[in-house]
Amino acid sequence: MSASSFRFRYLLGLLCHIALAQVACTPLPLSPDRAPLILADCGAQPNFASATQLKRWQSFPVDIYVDLGPIPETLLDVYREGVERGIHLWAEALQRTMGRLLQFRVSYSPNAAPVTLSLSAGPLLENAMGITELTFTDELIVNAKIKLTRSHYERTPFLVNDLANTTAHEIGHVLGIVDHSPSSEDKMSAAGNFGVHNQDQDPVSLLTASDLNTLREAYCR
Ligand SMILES: [Zn+2]
Repeated sequence: MSASSFRFRYLLGLLCHIALAQVACTPLPLSPDRAPLILADCGAQPNFASATQLKRWQSFPVDIYVDLGPIPETLLDVYREGVERGIHLWAEALQRTMGRLLQFRVSYSPNAAPVTLSLSAGPLLENAMGITELTFTDELIVNAKIKLTRSHYERTPFLVNDLANTTAHEIGHVLGIVDHSPSSEDKMSAAGNFGVHNQDQDPVSLLTASDLNTLREAYCR
């Protein structure tokens, strides 16, 4: 059993930009006799499943290593709070259904976790706020690397929400929504549905029905 492996790069920001490169062809590194997860029913509307590739993790919880390297000591607790809220935001929104299984295990110690999230000391390409590199086979996600820039809201009350919102968009890619929603109202639109106009809103309310139903499509078969 073999499958091609692709690496996609996603940028989030005022100038959102997508680059695609095929980097390798490798054997499927997963046991073929393990049945994939079925966490949801297919077909819930609205969704933008026809506008994106959908991939999935074979099992949960998924380990994630968070490296807050350049963040000063005085801001570490706030950064941890915001990033962790964003990592768990999809499970929070879906807590009565698939959210119970859709879990990440966060570590701040270097390890071989399949997902890494690191804060960049400098600006990202195209001034993006976040980038996710996703590596996957025909169906299954192998690993993901998230890079975030430092928040523009470090000296404001919106820092936690801004970090949660940005992180949650990138986690949407990590969970398997490969491409962006065509609707600017969705969290998974290219620029995200957050910013000054939504900075007062609870981050979980910015995951739309369309975002959540699209994720359900990735785990329904
Ligand atoms: Zn994105």
